[in-house]
Amino acid sequence: MRTHHCNELRESHIGQAVTLIGWVNSARDQGGVIFIDLRDREGVTQCVFRTEVSNDAADLSHKLRVEDVVQISGRVEARLRSEEIDTTNDKLATGKIEVVADQLVVINKADVLPFQLDKELSNEDLRMKYRYLDLRRPRMTRNIRLRSKITSAARRFLNDAGYDEIETPILSNPTPEGARDFLVPARLNPGRFYALPQAPQQYKQLLMVAGIEKYFQIARCFRDEDLRADRQPEFTQIDIEASFVGQEDIIRLVEGLLQEMFQAGLGIEIPKSFERMTYQQAMDIYGSDKPDTRYDLKIIDLAQCFAQTEFKIFRSVLDQGGVVRAINAKSFASITTGQMNRLNEIAVQAGLPVKNLAFIKLENGEYKSPLWKIFTDEEKSAVVKAMNLEEGDIVFFAAGSRENVSTILGRVRTECAEMLQLTLNKNQWNFLWVVDFPLLAQDEESGNWVAVHHPFTRPHPDDLQKLASGDFANVRAVAYDVVLNGYELGGGSIRIHEKDLQAQMFSALGIDEHEQQIKFGHLLDAFRFGAPPHGGLALGLDRIAMLIAGEDSIREVIAFPKNNKGADLMASSPCHIEHKLLREVYISSTYKEAKQTVSSDS
Ligand code: ASP
Repeated sequence: MRTHHCNELRESHIGQAVTLIGWVNSARDQGGVIFIDLRDREGVTQCVFRTEVSNDAADLSHKLRVEDVVQISGRVEARLRSEEIDTTNDKLATGKIEVVADQLVVINKADVLPFQLDKELSNEDLRMKYRYLDLRRPRMTRNIRLRSKITSAARRFLNDAGYDEIETPILSNPTPEGARDFLVPARLNPGRFYALPQAPQQYKQLLMVAGIEKYFQIARCFRDEDLRADRQPEFTQIDIEASFVGQEDIIRLVEGLLQEMFQAGLGIEIPKSFERMTYQQAMDIYGSDKPDTRYDLKIIDLAQCFAQTEFKIFRSVLDQGGVVRAINAKSFASITTGQMNRLNEIAVQAGLPVKNLAFIKLENGEYKSPLWKIFTDEEKSAVVKAMNLEEGDIVFFAAGSRENVSTILGRVRTECAEMLQLTLNKNQWNFLWVVDFPLLAQDEESGNWVAVHHPFTRPHPDDLQKLASGDFANVRAVAYDVVLNGYELGGGSIRIHEKDLQAQMFSALGIDEHEQQIKFGHLLDAFRFGAPPHGGLALGLDRIAMLIAGEDSIREVIAFPKNNKGADLMASSPCHIEHKLLREVYISSTYKEAKQTVSSDS
C-alpha cells in the first residue's frame, strides 16, 4: 500500500514518484492550496494538493478531516527556500521536502474525535476510554515501541547467556507473595478455584529441580491490591532462575541485562557494576530500602552529641536503646509554612508521635529552633558540627526506636528532595544493590512473623543458629534488591533447596506441618529428590520501561492499563456476568446477595 513510510523521504528522494499511507495529522488551506501532514507510526510527511497537478485530488483534499486514513501518491519535491521565503521545517526529519500529490484515495473517514491528539490531555479517564486514539499520539506510540525494544534486548541477552524461555501456568494455586489473589472458578472441579499467579516463584524453582538450570520468562503476574502510580493489578516481570549459582552470579547477570536494556532503550552506557549497600545501611543512612542516591540529605546519628543530655525526651529514648537522628536540608531554611505543614503531616503518617517535627534553622546568622534554649552550649556546638549546619540550612530531628526514626526521616528526606527539586534530573542513573535483607519481620497487628521476601528465601549461612533458636529479628537473608533512583527495579534471593530447612522456615512463619503439606507439599516433595542449589530474581519490566521512557506512571508504558479502581474503561472491564454463566461454574451468590451476607455478618 505504500512505497515509503512517513519518516523516510529526504532530499535524496527528490524527483521520485512515491505512495504514502497513514492518518491526516493536520490539514491547512492556504489560499486554496491544501497542505496535509500525513502521519504513520514513524513520523510525518507534508503533502500538497495543487489543482494544476490534479484537479480531482485537489478537490477531494478539501474534504479531509484529521485522522481520516488516506493513501497519497505524488512526486517528492524540495520545499521552497529563498531569501524571502523559507518553507522548510527543521523540526521535522522530512522537513526539507514535500510530496506534491497527484492522487488521493480516502480509505476511511474519521468522525469528530473525543479529544485532540496533538494536545496533552489531563482527563485520564477520557484517554483510557479511547485508549486506541491516545496511543496514536507520538509520545505514546514511542513509549509502547520503546517497551518492545527493551523487552527484545532482554530476551536476546538472556538467550545469549544460555537461559531458556519457559512458560509456567497462569491457572494455578494461591501463592504466598503477600497480596490478595485473583480467583478463577474451576468448572470441571465444582467448588474449586484456580488463583492467578502473583509470581511464578514455585514453578521456576520446580524447573530447577527438573534440571533446566537456566530459566527466564517475561511473566505476567497478578496481585489484587490497592493501586498506585507504579502498581497495576496485572504487571510484567522478567523472571529469572538458575541452578548452581550464588548471589554474585545473579548480581553479575542482572547488571549485564540492565546494561543491555538501557543501551537498547536510551543508547547509554550504565556502570558495569553497581554500588552496594546492606539493608541496614540503607535504612540507617537513607531511611529507605530503595534509596534515591542522586541527592545526599543523609540521616546522621547524634548519639555522641547527646550522650550526656538532660533533655528529658532524648534522655529517655537513648536510655531505652533508641536513637536520636537528624537530616540537614541544605539551603531550605526558607521553607514555607505550607511546606512545613506538609512535612509534619508526612512525619506523623510515618509514625512521629508528636504533631510537629523538631528543627533548627540558621537564618541571618541566627539559630531558630524550639529546641535551641533547651540544649546546652556543648550540645549546640556538637550538633552544628555533626550536621554541618550552615547559613540557610534547616535540620530536622527524630528520636525513638531505630526503625521508627528511619521511617520518619526517610519520608521527610524524600519529601524535602521533592520540595527542593532534587529529583528532576532524569538523565542521572544511580543504580544500587541493597543486600542482606532481614529474613523475617514481625507483623505489627498480629505479632506473627512474616517473610520479608518470600518463604523460599535462604537464611544467611552465618545466621542459621539464630533461626534455630528463635532469634528471628536478627536473621539475615541471602536476598538482594536492585534499585534505581529511588525505585525498586527488582528483587530476588538464593533459595532454600533442602526439605528440612524449608520446613523450619515454614514453622517460623507459623505454618504447621498439616498446612505445609496442603499448600507446599509439592515443593517439599520435590526437595526430597536431589534439588540443586538455586537462586534468581525478578525485574519489574513496567517500571524499567517507565524510567527509560522518562514517564512518572507505569500506565504510560502499558498498552491497555487499568485505572486506580482496577477498571479498563475502554472495554468496561470488569463486567457483570449472567446468572446462567455463574451457575455453570457453581457460583450462586450475586454481588447483591454477597453484600447482604457480609453486612448481616458484621
Ligand atoms: N518471585 C519474586 C517476586 O515476585 C522474585 C524472586 O524472588 O525471584 O518478588
